[in-house]
Amino acid sequence: MRRVLLYLVQLALIVTAAVWLADRPGEVRIDWLGWRVETSAAVLALLMVALAWALAVLRGLWRWMRRAPGAFVEARRERRREAGYEALGRGLAAVAAGDAVEARRLARKASGLLDEPPLTRLLSAQAAQLGGDEAEAERQFQAMRADPATEFLGLRGLLAKALRDGDRASAVALAERALELKPNAPWLLKQTFALQAEAGRWRAAMATLADAAGRGAVVKEAARRARTALLTALAEESADPGEAKHLLVEAAELAPGFAPAATQLARLHAAAGAERKAIKGLERAWNAAPHPDVARAWLQLRAEAPPLDRLRWLQRLTRSQGDHREARLALAEAALDAQLWGAARHQLQDLVAQPTPRVVRLMARVEREERADVEGARAWLERIQSTGPDPAWVCGACGAQSTGWAARCGNCGAFDSLDWKSPPRVQRIDRPPPLLMPAAADPVPQIPPAPAATA
Ligand SMILES: [Zn+2]
Repeated sequence: MRRVLLYLVQLALIVTAAVWLADRPGEVRIDWLGWRVETSAAVLALLMVALAWALAVLRGLWRWMRRAPGAFVEARRERRREAGYEALGRGLAAVAAGDAVEARRLARKASGLLDEPPLTRLLSAQAAQLGGDEAEAERQFQAMRADPATEFLGLRGLLAKALRDGDRASAVALAERALELKPNAPWLLKQTFALQAEAGRWRAAMATLADAAGRGAVVKEAARRARTALLTALAEESADPGEAKHLLVEAAELAPGFAPAATQLARLHAAAGAERKAIKGLERAWNAAPHPDVARAWLQLRAEAPPLDRLRWLQRLTRSQGDHREARLALAEAALDAQLWGAARHQLQDLVAQPTPRVVRLMARVEREERADVEGARAWLERIQSTGPDPAWVCGACGAQSTGWAARCGNCGAFDSLDWKSPPRVQRIDRPPPLLMPAAADPVPQIPPAPAATA
């Protein structure tokens, strides 16, 4: 509205000026360099307006000519950028579709057109990986790692490669650096913990585990179990009994029924003359989960006592869980040592229905020692072939069995994979006896690789 008003005012002024000039047709005469111009004042005014307009047009033309090359270059750059991004997008789509040849072609095109190494390197690396060119992929990931903007993506690519190659030493270093950059990534927390634990770096693993649990990347129960294993492993390697005790007390608190921690702690207490603490700890472990090692550690506290006293000592432990299979086996053995055949038979009578090698050996001992019945003893021992196995520490990762606990499986190296349980029954027909440690085709545990790096 204001512009229209302004326009009308301007028009009125021009018309007024024109009328005013037309009403006063005075004459103008110019003498200049031998030329003479004679005209009316109105024509002169018109000429001056025309001249001003021509000058304005020339000035605009000049400015446009000065800017043109820059605009041309900018337009060309914009077209290249657009083509580059298009190649990048189609390249990523080709990677997703698994078309290695197309992906590599588009990766080269995109890096030629775009001046954005972080984006094009990732595509180049993925295209190279897809095409099986591991060396080129690694070169790209190394270049990404050197650039602060893409260091994490580079580390992630290199970590996945190290895991595929089974290069645990490199993998743990890469994972730790990546975790410094992104301390919140749940998959990275879990991966780093697994690598540190497998490498036996207990303290570093413990710190990572605490971090992972604090950020909710690990379930509480799993974190508690893993921490128990770490504490016990650390205590086993510790040369300082005070520190070892401190670690084991926490482990026993976390998992009262975990025999390896309870028995180790009891030994340390006993060695330091703190028998009451040893007794309390073993009773607590036995009540939570009767385990032959706990019974053994308990009897060790009366190693020098006569057999009958040892039996009575054991009866004190088995006041609770007295019907448990492990209680019966331990009591039967102690009764045999004390030559109380009837008591031994009594403890074993419920177990022979489902015999295991331990039950069978004790029954053979009863036959041999009570009645000197060699034939009866042999008959029992022959049954070993057909019995189910005794409980053992069984690796959940590779199935290997061992009699003692270790933080890492002795066969496959997996961390905290051993559970105390009855191993699956093995068929023994026309085959060599199964090895205690089965020979695995792939001795390296497979940790699932990190999710494929995507932009
Ligand atoms: Zn294993």
